[in-house]
Amino acid sequence: MGIQKLETSAIIIGAGPAGAGTSFFLSKYRIPHIVIEKETFPRDKVCGDACSGKTALVINRANPEWLTEILNDEHSFMPSWGITFVAPNGKALDIPFSANRTKDTKAPGFTVPRLTFDNFLFQKMSSPCCTIFQDAKVNAIENVAGKVSVSMTHNGDDYEVTAPVIIGADGDKSVVRKKYLSESTAPKTYAVGLRAYYEGVTGLHADNFIELHFLPEMLPGYLWIFPLPNGMANVGVGILSERIREKKINLREQMLFAIKNNPQIAPRFANAKLVDKIQGWGLPLAMEKQQLSGDNFMLTGDAACLIDPFSGEGIGNALYSGMLAAMAIQQAMEQSNYSAAFLKTAYDDVVYKRLGDELKISATLQRLCKYPWLFNFVVNKAYKSPSLRNTISCMFTDMDLREQLSKPSFYFKILFNK
Ligand SMILES: Cc1cc2nc3c(=O)[nH]c(=O)nc-3n(C[C@H](O)[C@H](O)[C@H](O)COP(=O)(O)OP(=O)(O)OC[C@H]3O[C@@H](n4cnc5c(N)ncnc54)[C@H](O)[C@@H]3O)c2cc1C
Repeated sequence: MGIQKLETSAIIIGAGPAGAGTSFFLSKYRIPHIVIEKETFPRDKVCGDACSGKTALVINRANPEWLTEILNDEHSFMPSWGITFVAPNGKALDIPFSANRTKDTKAPGFTVPRLTFDNFLFQKMSSPCCTIFQDAKVNAIENVAGKVSVSMTHNGDDYEVTAPVIIGADGDKSVVRKKYLSESTAPKTYAVGLRAYYEGVTGLHADNFIELHFLPEMLPGYLWIFPLPNGMANVGVGILSERIREKKINLREQMLFAIKNNPQIAPRFANAKLVDKIQGWGLPLAMEKQQLSGDNFMLTGDAACLIDPFSGEGIGNALYSGMLAAMAIQQAMEQSNYSAAFLKTAYDDVVYKRLGDELKISATLQRLCKYPWLFNFVVNKAYKSPSLRNTISCMFTDMDLREQLSKPSFYFKILFNK
């Protein structure tokens, strides 16, 4: 058979959270689109498996029934009510996500293996406006006469798919990013993470708090223990690549050493069993503003380097940027304008207006984290002060408050108990 030619309004490469987020809202706006995915779902993705309020927000906007489905299925999606920070000095601080919880409050976050979560999103992409090719190979991306043309192979057949715009939702090693942005114009700030699944970890919080252990040898990174359904836990470490290079760190050895020897952590793993092999993946962090689009293309999620540099959270930002990309495409269609100037205003500027402040604060926090004394100091103070604990709790939802954390005046105030 010859090359089959398909025309559509938008081509999405990748069906992870960023691709799914874009697709949900294109379907909502009744815009036909084609999704090209190299894997076959359900597929795994190396991750901490923790989903924040932003993930819930986008899913709720796409379809409130989907969020209800998640909240009602605690066997697959475990509700999480807070976070435990463990300072470099070993002191633990429990911070609930919602300061004013009542019996009707829904958990703001949840944990779920990505194998389950991404397949949930994938199933929800089904719509008359969405055609999906999975297990497909992108062979080339070309710009021809104001359009984008993707040649791909699927089930042994060759296709040429054409649209006025392409959305790179293909993660950390994005081929769309590679095609349109040279690395020199868009340097990536990288962290590397390892993920391990354990069963039988003890001492987990009764309200499924996720745990971040800021061990001195890993700063400004951390070791995490996130409870999962069915007695499982996602355990991992994330550290800046430059620190790994500088200190010649063997990440796997360092993680296993902490699990075996750290006085707080080791007893909790005494009877725990490693399930599956330990796997690693990169985290493109949003340390600075970057170009997210150009003539006929947009980047979303990890392909756009939108991972929160402090928390390492990227699922929510992937879904959110997908939602904003779909909104921009709707405007571009109305104006028949897919130029770099138009997409910058309709997409890049909107992404940074909505997420820019939050990412900037997180970048500052990440830089501050390399000072163990500062971390110990805040945790020691918060340990003794319920009002400071309450302030930190509110910082999860209140950006103005979170900004305080990145200012020296915040530390002076707590030093003098103001
Ligand atoms: C160790 C680790 C721990 C993490 N922990 C958390 C956490 O707890 N919470 C959180 O919110 N975030 C976490 N993150 C970040 C999070 O995993 C990512 O930010 C998120 O997956 C980004 O979604 P995405 O859709 O942009 O990319 P991905 O999830 O990577 O999806 C990209 C999709 O594109 C497909 N694809 C790739 N290349 C091609 C191609 N050439 N052609 C077609 N398809 C292609 C892939 O198969 C995949 O399905 C973690 C990351 C790591 C590495």
